[in-house]
Amino acid sequence: MDAFMKRAVELSAQNVNEGGQPFGAVLVKDGKVLAEGVNELHLHFDSSGHAEMLAIREAQEKLQTLDLSEAVMYASGEPCPMCYTMMYYAGIREGYYCASVEETAEAGLGASTVLYDDFTKPREERTVVLKQMKLEANQTDPMELFQNRK
Ligand SMILES: [Zn+2]
Repeated sequence: MDAFMKRAVELSAQNVNEGGQPFGAVLVKDGKVLAEGVNELHLHFDSSGHAEMLAIREAQEKLQTLDLSEAVMYASGEPCPMCYTMMYYAGIREGYYCASVEETAEAGLGASTVLYDDFTKPREERTVVLKQMKLEANQTDPMELFQNRK
């Protein structure tokens, strides 16, 4: 384990000692720490307050860019689908984790295993029920608007 992962695990343990969940993240670019985060669900009413999300938000704000393609994520726990998706959108293509989602589930935090499994199912069998409502004939199509923008 390298120093960045050691830091992520240390943040994670510290967060548990402060009443939070066992997740810490360190975002690194060019061998330097860009941002750190811990799971803040115990502090704010914000379900997106995951360690990786907060580290990415801080780094994007700090660098004033959406592009973190040169950054590497070190997460004490394998990123959940939300954080994985955030990493994708931010251009992050390399990451390391300590505890797997299976090990995290054994500790009583099993949402990631449910969600990763959900994405392998057809839409109608997933946990969150999403139904399409098509545009009506007189409505502006935002997709078409975007596609034809100048
Ligand atoms: Zn997450």
